[in-house]
Amino acid sequence: MKTISKQGIGMTSDRTRGRLVERLVDQGIDNDSVLNAIEWVPRHIFVEQSIAHLAYEDRALPIGKRQTISQPYVVALMTAAAIDVENITKILEIGTGCGYQTAVLARLVENVYSMERIESLSLGARRRMRQLKLDNVRICVGDGFEGWEEHAPYDAIVVTAAAVHVSVALQNQVRVGGRIVVPLGRSSVQDLVCMERLESGWSTTSLGSVTFVPMLPGVDA
Ligand code: SAH
Repeated sequence: MKTISKQGIGMTSDRTRGRLVERLVDQGIDNDSVLNAIEWVPRHIFVEQSIAHLAYEDRALPIGKRQTISQPYVVALMTAAAIDVENITKILEIGTGCGYQTAVLARLVENVYSMERIESLSLGARRRMRQLKLDNVRICVGDGFEGWEEHAPYDAIVVTAAAVHVSVALQNQVRVGGRIVVPLGRSSVQDLVCMERLESGWSTTSLGSVTFVPMLPGVDA
């Protein structure tokens, strides 16, 4: 595990973070490495200073450009499902946003790739990865419907925006035995599904209802 100095990034008290983790455990999150990663990531540096005091509440918060930072419970749920793949070393995230989930993944998986369609958000996330010395993350501006072919195949893909369908391009970038975790649906509440790639086709399980901003085509540079 990486170590990082607690100076310079204005860490809030360990107790506040400990309480967030306790709440996640109460809600059924039982993967210790995921809980440790969430405890490590200073969520307050991913939001505006004016709402930093809300950072360790288990809720989504605005990050500008009409986008949100995901609720920690949902980040934990998606992360636990996505990394539950044998020999996972490479993961792709669609929808970097402020980079919070990216940072959680970076504590757990050797190589993390993340795509964001809004350039200003992508730049902010990149800055935070540097600040946290998470040098195993590569971030690009691009359309997640196309995936990031250059580094495929991935062991898992996490889509953190609501999609009506999973593009064939993305499906083809996951190896057999790998997973795609994605909120699927058209309305304001979506079904979080975990798709596992089999030798022939996919098996799908539902992880419950979630609310994400929609996945949109193209880039917004
Ligand atoms: N992973 C973030 C969640 C960000 S919200 C977190 O940890 O908090 C979802 C993000 O997906 C938004 O920033 C949005 O701009 C982005 N997004 C939407 N459609 C996309 C697409 N087609 N490709 C890449 N990113 C997309």
